[in-house]
Amino acid sequence: MNHPSPSGPEQRPDRTALVRVRVFDGRQLTEPRTVVLEGGVLSSETSTSGAQILDGDGMILLPGLIDAHVHLHGRDTLEQLCSYGVTTALDMATWPPQLLASLRRVTGLTDIRSAGTPAIGSGGPHSRIPGMAADAIVRSPQQAAEFVAAQVSAGVDYIKIVAEEPGAGGPDQQTMNALVAAAHTHGRLTVAHAATAGAYTMALDAGADVVTHIPLDRAIAQDDIARMSAAGRVAVPTLTMMEAAAAARPGAPAYHTAEQNVTALHRAGVPVLAGTDANTQPGAPAQVPHGRSLHHELELLVAAGLTTAEVLRAATAAPALHFGLRDRGAIAPGLRADLLLVDGDPLTDISATRNIRHIWCGGHAHTPASD
Ligand SMILES: [Zn+2]
Repeated sequence: MNHPSPSGPEQRPDRTALVRVRVFDGRQLTEPRTVVLEGGVLSSETSTSGAQILDGDGMILLPGLIDAHVHLHGRDTLEQLCSYGVTTALDMATWPPQLLASLRRVTGLTDIRSAGTPAIGSGGPHSRIPGMAADAIVRSPQQAAEFVAAQVSAGVDYIKIVAEEPGAGGPDQQTMNALVAAAHTHGRLTVAHAATAGAYTMALDAGADVVTHIPLDRAIAQDDIARMSAAGRVAVPTLTMMEAAAAARPGAPAYHTAEQNVTALHRAGVPVLAGTDANTQPGAPAQVPHGRSLHHELELLVAAGLTTAEVLRAATAAPALHFGLRDRGAIAPGLRADLLLVDGDPLTDISATRNIRHIWCGGHAHTPASD
């Protein structure tokens, strides 16, 4: 019950009104308006009565950012993501399950979805990552069905499959096919890791819904681009990781190939999502810092030919759509109050997403990182 106080309406502490903010509506900026946050969600009311008021004159309000490829290491990972405005993180392999469970639904911090343990072959580079989960190796279609059933009962949100160049130690094609089929039987999306053009073909042959990374070695086959587009498959290229991996290995194929592959997918109408492969995993091709890297990824996607509005959608509405997160990705009544208030116009210059003045994660205010 609200009792009016003599000096005016009582302030409700969980109610915040952002006034005179221009809002990115998924395509363009609105005229200055009022956005009210209450109880962790965006309100349909625009009355500022009883609210803590923040004047956002000259600033732009964006939906909280979604990084569609991270690895989690602990609560500090969530804090770091949050401090750069990444309010949702799609984890693409974290174990053990106890660690993962401790990072789910942490009030006021970045909200996660996770693949849990990835399915890998017995001979590829992933099998040599220090501390790789023993149950990650899948050798046959029979084991594929068991692996997926175990992951689903462990509560994963989707299934991650690590494809390698044919003969390079990843799961064979029959096993890949069985992993995807089993995941679909359980109603789970599949996300296939594919960093070479041959692995990309295997992932598409298997029917993977989302393909992450982007070939550094050569152009993706034209047929693969065409069928990806026709079938509504989704790409999470992680250009930040491809750039770091190319730089870390002298004599490795140039980053330019990766960028051209993204350009080709985008031109063909394949949805491209922003993801970084942020990790601090020893043995990974490169360590990528959580949070800050997503802003770099947005810049790389613009350089690859996406418009600034497309890039903002690639980090908000598009991952929400393709991963079935119906309560976020836009600024609308009833959605989670995941928001960034930035200085400068990211539609003119995407690097303005770095100028974060205020962050709300599920309605909780956070201090932006200082760099
Ligand atoms: Zn990864």
